[in-house]
Amino acid sequence: MYNKDGKKRGHAIALFSGGLDSALAILMILQQNIEVTAITFMTHFGCDLGDRSSCGSNPYPAAEKFGFNVKLMHLGQKFVDLVLNPQYGRGKNMNICIDCRILMLKEAKELMEMVNADFIITGEVMGQRPMSQVKDKLFLVQNQAGLKGKLLRPLSAKLLPPTQAEIDGLVDRELLEGISGRSRKRQLELAKKFNLEDYPNPASGCLLTDSGYSNRLHDLIQHSEQINFDDLNLLRAGRHFRLNPDVKIVVGRDEQDNNAILACKQSHHYELEVLDVGSPVTLIIGNPTENDFQFAGAISARYTSARKEPIVKVRITNEEKSELISVKPADDSLIDKIILR
Ligand code: SF4
Repeated sequence: MYNKDGKKRGHAIALFSGGLDSALAILMILQQNIEVTAITFMTHFGCDLGDRSSCGSNPYPAAEKFGFNVKLMHLGQKFVDLVLNPQYGRGKNMNICIDCRILMLKEAKELMEMVNADFIITGEVMGQRPMSQVKDKLFLVQNQAGLKGKLLRPLSAKLLPPTQAEIDGLVDRELLEGISGRSRKRQLELAKKFNLEDYPNPASGCLLTDSGYSNRLHDLIQHSEQINFDDLNLLRAGRHFRLNPDVKIVVGRDEQDNNAILACKQSHHYELEVLDVGSPVTLIIGNPTENDFQFAGAISARYTSARKEPIVKVRITNEEKSELISVKPADDSLIDKIILR
């Protein structure tokens, strides 16, 4: 599709999640013989390439099929700092969509200036998402990213003021769309037209939009002076229990969880093993007392085949100690009180 008449008319930088809308935005610009370099952003909050969420799909198959470049960019600590202190507030959960969009657009702007591209495109659709895609927020993120006139949303372009690329004739506005709202009807028609077959179902967004993850993150922020990447990654795995302000417990649900928890284990964590049965990986985080060890052992034992036994043995280890305790497995009423859902 790109350069079918042999002439490149310009160069756009695209924000590309791998989802349907951002793919369509790219295809609409490629069809105008404009080169596209797409950026797929990653963060510690779920936008992994392996995910099938709206912000975490593999960008390469579409890039290969339709002929555009993809650059992966991890937002790392910059994004974490915004999650901890967003300037524009949060959505229903811990999501910081406005700050997030501004950061991504600022990064895209830097790339645009570095490679001397002409403008930026996104797959945003006016009115599709409550926090960041209502009209005034579209203008807000554009202006805060310093992109007035330089940010084209091909799917909703006809509902928005013309950008410089349209005014200059680089982009034919007539070939753009005027889509608004949550219906995907027009997008599905366009997907058919462009022969775009493999795209994920719309999802609500990254992990920050998930209420369970958000509760665990909120708890972490409330009870930590400093937060590192392992702390954040650990929130993705296992069941989490807040015993008291000083102590949290994490218990693996299955082998995948157990491995993920072990990968995030830090030197100050205690590890528990319920003896003589298949034990879930269990970590105690914080400053536990002897009483807390008993509680943690009881909770860990609840998730073994010995949960109906009167007494089980649990080994507690960290870098400095190894201790054997006997506990009665916890009952579900205790679990319900302290589990972070
Ligand atoms: S859901 Fe919001 S915070 Fe999460 S990646 Fe998408 S825009 Fe950013």
